[in-house]
Amino acid sequence: MKITKIIQWDMGHRILNHRSVCKGLHGHRYKAEITVEGDLVNASSTSEYGMVMDFADIKKIAKKEVHDKLDHGFMVWDKDEELINFFKNSGGHKMVKVTFTSTAENVAKYIFENISKKFEDKYGTGLKLSSVKLWETPTSYVVYEGRSC
Ligand SMILES: [Zn+2]
Repeated sequence: MKITKIIQWDMGHRILNHRSVCKGLHGHRYKAEITVEGDLVNASSTSEYGMVMDFADIKKIAKKEVHDKLDHGFMVWDKDEELINFFKNSGGHKMVKVTFTSTAENVAKYIFENISKKFEDKYGTGLKLSSVKLWETPTSYVVYEGRSC
């Protein structure tokens, strides 16, 4: 069975070589739907009995590994020298330096890869991260389901 927890955060970015307005500095209210899948926990004496995973535990992982690292940050491609220099020389900003240009596709993959190990077979039920659906705007999203897609 699959279950999903949704988290949201605010983050700035730019797409350096984009042909249009995306190359300028701007931000989004990002929303990620974190979906995990596995069999139901069948140990009746545990807190998770009858669940794939406790929603609160998904939230805890998503908050620590995604929200708290990205919220009110600015994602910067390590090849974007202008921005790297700007952030180096001015304090008070939360730069999130990454090795990719911050398209929604790449950010979804980055999130997936950063949290997938936290879910691996936690209860002996085959639990795993199934997908990360990342909304960049209210009308645009990408879905990443791991290496195979
Ligand atoms: Zn954007």
